[in-house]
Order: sequence, then structure tokens, then C-alpha cells
Amino acid sequence: GARGSTGLLNMEGALVARDKVGIQDFVLLDETTETAFMENLKKRFDKDLIYTYIGALVVSVNPYKDLDIYNSNQMDLYMGVNFFELPPHIFALADTVYHAMMLELNNHFILISGESGAGKTEASKKILQYYAACSPETDLLTSVRDKMLMSNPVLEAFGNAKTLKNDNSSRFGKYMDIQFNKALGGHILNYLLEKSRVVHQNHGERNFHIFYQLVEGGEEDLLHQLGLERDCLYYNYLTQGECAIMSSINDKNDWKTVKNALKVIEVSESDRTDLFGVVASVLHLGNVEFDPDSRGNASLDNNTELRWLLGVNAQTLQEGLTYRKIRAQQDQVLSPFNIDHAIYVRDALAKAMYGRTFTWLVRQINESMENKDDTMKMVIGLLDIYGFEVFYVNSFEQFCINYCNEKLQQLFIQLTLKSEQEEYEAEGIEWEAVQFFNNKIICDLVEERHRGIISILDEECLRPGDATDLTFLERLEEKMGDHPHFVTHRLADITTRKTLDRGDFRLLHYAGEVTYCVVGKRDRHTQHTERLMGQSKNAIVREVFCNADADSRRRPETVATQFKSSLLKLTESLLAKDAWYVRCLKSNESKKPGVLDEALVRHQVKYLGLMEHLRVRRAGFAYRRRYEVFLQRYKALCPATWPHWLGLPMDGVQVLVQHLGYMPYEYKMGRTKIFIRHPKTLYATEDAFERC
Ligand code: ADP
Ligand code: MG
Repeated sequence: GARGSTGLLNMEGALVARDKVGIQDFVLLDETTETAFMENLKKRFDKDLIYTYIGALVVSVNPYKDLDIYNSNQMDLYMGVNFFELPPHIFALADTVYHAMMLELNNHFILISGESGAGKTEASKKILQYYAACSPETDLLTSVRDKMLMSNPVLEAFGNAKTLKNDNSSRFGKYMDIQFNKALGGHILNYLLEKSRVVHQNHGERNFHIFYQLVEGGEEDLLHQLGLERDCLYYNYLTQGECAIMSSINDKNDWKTVKNALKVIEVSESDRTDLFGVVASVLHLGNVEFDPDSRGNASLDNNTELRWLLGVNAQTLQEGLTYRKIRAQQDQVLSPFNIDHAIYVRDALAKAMYGRTFTWLVRQINESMENKDDTMKMVIGLLDIYGFEVFYVNSFEQFCINYCNEKLQQLFIQLTLKSEQEEYEAEGIEWEAVQFFNNKIICDLVEERHRGIISILDEECLRPGDATDLTFLERLEEKMGDHPHFVTHRLADITTRKTLDRGDFRLLHYAGEVTYCVVGKRDRHTQHTERLMGQSKNAIVREVFCNADADSRRRPETVATQFKSSLLKLTESLLAKDAWYVRCLKSNESKKPGVLDEALVRHQVKYLGLMEHLRVRRAGFAYRRRYEVFLQRYKALCPATWPHWLGLPMDGVQVLVQHLGYMPYEYKMGRTKIFIRHPKTLYATEDAFERC
């Protein structure tokens, strides 16, 4: 016969051995039920086959164990091979996107989604490694390539942390353009780092990795120079989660990797010193404690800790942490803080310093990976952004994270529906629309101008005087009271029968319900301490705080609004590119290798809209192939088409399927492709093919 002799599963024709390893493309399942979907997923997962397609979309299940499927032999195998010729793999997607870009000379992006711990970051790293490996080798390229690869350990050290969901959870959103022309290059956009983690960690969670790496792994001299003890337990900012030391995390080794990576991305020695200075300063700040004076105001008796806050006058800083300067007519008056307020100011300073330094770091990385070739660049964007998450207490940051997930889900719905519809139209095929939940209603609830939650939050934040967390909540109740996806304590019990605290509101997200606590969400810096930091002897601190004065003159934008506009920009830039998807599923909650918790996975399959996606893909027609490809595969089944068909491929296919006895309702002839309604038709053809 005409079959390839590789012995590999050949999907271009159809599918082989479907009982042994399950079906490689859900589109070809007999039935589009959830049960059939889960059965197939599980069958494959049990054989360590973690990737399965829905058409061109890759479904990936986190195996929680190292599989030997990412080595350089595997990369070679997938290079330049047709998408369906080899078993499903993240490399196959990477390769296909690359070739689509080269062929069409346009921009693409890969959206990697899934909840926290599902494997998004790992997938994005695999894709980047693949592109790095297949880029042509020249001296210059090699160094840019190394820098791109080395940006990961650095960003992870500063932006990742152990959470309850994931020991290496990304606490910032990341979009990376991989730029291709004669040279290779990269550019990263970072989104909303979870700064609150710098000063507070929930039980079982840690601060950002870099703090522990420095304390555990830092050389004696360095620690001495920074005034640090080699003892994580000594630092308030490291111990709130009560799990500073984790057997699964090797901070000492990671320190070496990060130090080396910083060199590769060309962070100069003096910048490195300043960078570690910031990390140390944050730790020292966390140990600054206030005592009440006779009037109950915050006082700082001893400023040993402050001495280490690099290059800032300890006396002035002490003032900044305990007093506010008020301008009264011509004079400046010092108004003392109470203890809570002083702690608030201290923490705000630590968060600002760390957060801005993170952005500084991203800028350094971008400079080092810049593609210096000015000819036209094409890009493949990689979007690895925080997954949907629900904790016991959910704060402003979870609100932003989950809002971001709503936006991306919305983008996915728009794009997949649109492209499917366009294909049917282009091919002149009639089809029925598939119903599914459109989460636009939730996006609007959050972001609509003048009426959405973010607008109301803005109004409350910028309203001088008496605005509090609770007045914010009252406003929300006033405006959203009867929205089907919004619940507060007054209205909670009837609909969901779960009580809510007075300071909480609940959103019914597409992926589940989440209760948000509004207390203390409005971060305001004191300009006094900001200005002070602008005079620091630490060059990084000085640089990131130097705009404090300029900023204060403009009407400030709230963090939520900034985030909203950055997401809007991102969506716009994505809509101008061709979309590809990786949907990551978390196999179980306890990070156990090889265990698939069916209920957990089923829930994700549901809310990620995989079933709907599958149904849309099959709306009427499960299978479609270009005429040439179909004819090439099956021409041996018909004397009129074997060995050569000399006419138009479309006519050849017509002759072929008539010979095979296809009934008219079983297929449709499009302009360039044959559409087959049910996979069974194809199985029969494939069986005939195997016999021949
Ligand atoms: P996310 O970014 O979605 O929160 P990660 O990509 O950080 O999740 O994955 C969490 C953990 O799961 C990883 O640290 C790793 O231990 C494991 N993991 C994820 N994907 C894979 C994979 N393809 N093979 C082996 N282990 C994986
Ligand atoms: Mg991640």
C-alpha cells in the first residue's frame, strides 16, 4: 500500500490504533459527550500521552513527572514535519506556527491558558526552547538565544513563588514576542506583579524565590556587605506562611543559576550589587518595628535595620516612616502616624521598591535580547499569564487575575467562533451555530465605562475625604445589585445559600464563583518616602523612584485602571495576529505524578469551554481535508484514481467517495476541502485502506 513505513501514527490520513492509545484528535471521537472526552483523555494520560488535539488546539495534562519527550532528538523529529504526522506534541504546534509564519509572512501568537499549576509556564518554556534550538546558528545569534533562555530563571526568581497551588507559581503575567528575521530577538511585556506577597504570605505560601535564594545561597561576603543573617526565619517578610524552607525547592542551587543568568543577560556587576541591595533592603524593612510613644504614636527607637537601607539617610527615613508632612499655610507641620499607619507606610514602601525593581529588571532583559536587525520582523507571541485562581481569602490581586482570565476567554470565544464561521463561509458550506456561554456579560460587569466595577472603584479611590472600603461596597450594591453575576452579603443567601461577610462581594466567573474581600485594597504611597528614595545612593532605587515628583502632579490612575488599559492594549495587539491555543489541565490538586482526578479535570474541561470548542469544530462536520491531501492518501482505494488522477483533485475525490459508497448526507464538497460529517465514515475508509 501507499502507507508510510515509519510505523508512526499517521493522522493526515486518519487515525490508527485508536483503541490502544486513544484518539489523538478529539474531533474524531465517535461522540462529543463529556464522558467520551474524559475516557479518551484518561486512556492517553495513563500511557503518559499528555497531549491531544482538538483540531489545531493542543490540550495538555500536567503529568507531574519528567517525561523524556523534550530532548533534542524529539526536537529534530518534529522539525518541519506536518502537524498530523507525528503524535501530538507541543513541539508540533511550535513548528507549525513557525512554518505558517514563514509561509504567510505574518504575525502569530500562542495563547497558553489553564489554572494555576496546570503547566502553562512549562509549556511556554518548551516552546521557547524549541525556537531557540531551531534558529540557525551564528555567533551573534547564539548569544541572543542564550539571553532569551536565561531570561526565564531570572524572571522566575523575582516573579515566582510557592503558593498552595504550585511550588513555582508565576505571580506576574508575561507576554513575550519572539522576533524573527535574519536575527532572533525577544521582547517581554510584564503585567501586574502580585506585590502584596512581598509583605504578606498566606499559610503554606512563600515570598518570591529570590529572597530565600539570597539568604540561603548568597556568599558570606555578600551577606556581610548587605547586613543579612543566613537565616530565613530571622526575617518577618519570609516567615508568615510558615514554610520558608521547602524540601522540594533547592534555593542554594537556584541562587547559582540566577547569578549566572544575570551575567548572561548582561546585568553589570554594579547593577547586580544594587539589585541584591534592593532585595536585602526589603528584608530589612520588614524587620523594622515600631513602638508606641506616650501618646500612642509610632516611634522608632532603634534604627539598626534602617542603617542598611541603602544610601538613604537613616534619620530622614525614620521620620518618613513615622510622620506625615502637612502643609499648613506657609509652614510644614509634622503629623505623627499611629502604629498601624506606620506599618502601612513601611509595607507600601517595600512593595513599591520591589515592584518597580521588577519592572526595571524586565527592561534590562529587553535591552539585552533586542533584535538589532532593522529589516522587517515577524513575531510569534507567547502569552503565559496567571491562571484563574480561588483562594480562601481573595484580594484585589485575585480580582485582577481573574478579570484577565475572563478577557482571554472572551478573546478565545471571539476568535474560535469567528474563524470557524469564516472557514465555512470561505468553503461555501452551510452550518448550524452552536450555543455556548458567552462570558462577555462578566467582562462588562468588570470593565464597562462609568458602570463597571473598576469605574466605581476609581471614583471611590479618587474621591477625597470619606471614601472607605465599605462605601465602595455600598456603591457597588447600588449599581450592580441585580446583576446575575454579582452578589453581596445582602443578596447572597437567596441565590447561593452561602453567607457572605459584610466586607465581601462575590463574582460568578465563567470558571466558578469567587468571593473577594474589599478591605484595605487601595494602595496609596506616601509621597514623602517616595521622594526620599529618589535620593538613594543605590542607583536602581534612585532610578525607579526618580519620577515620584512628576507623577504627583497628574491625576493619578488607579492600579485597576492601569491594568484594564494594559489588557485592552494586549487584546488589540493579539487581534491583529493569527491565534493558536494550548489549553493546560491540572491533573490533581496534590501535585502527584500520574494521578488524574476525574472530577477536577472534568470541571476544567467544562469551564475552559473545550466541549463547546469541540462541538463548534464539528458543527456538522468532524473532519475536513484539502482535496489533494485526501486524494493522495486514499487514491489506492479506487481503480479510477490509482495510481494517478490527472484531473482536478476535487473531481478525483468526488469519483473516489462515490466509488466508496459515501451517501450524499455524509459529506460536503467545499471549495478546497472535503467535509465529512461523522468520523465513522472516515474509520470505514481507513479500515478499507489498511486492508488494501
Ligand atoms: P502554571 O504556570 O500553569 O501555574 P507550571 O507550568 O508552573 O504551572 O507547572 C507547575 C508544575 O507542574 C511544574 O513546576 C512542574 O513540576 C509540573 N509540570 C508542568 N508541566 C509539566 C510537564 N510538561 N512535564 C512535567 N512536569 C510538568
Ligand atoms: Mg506559571
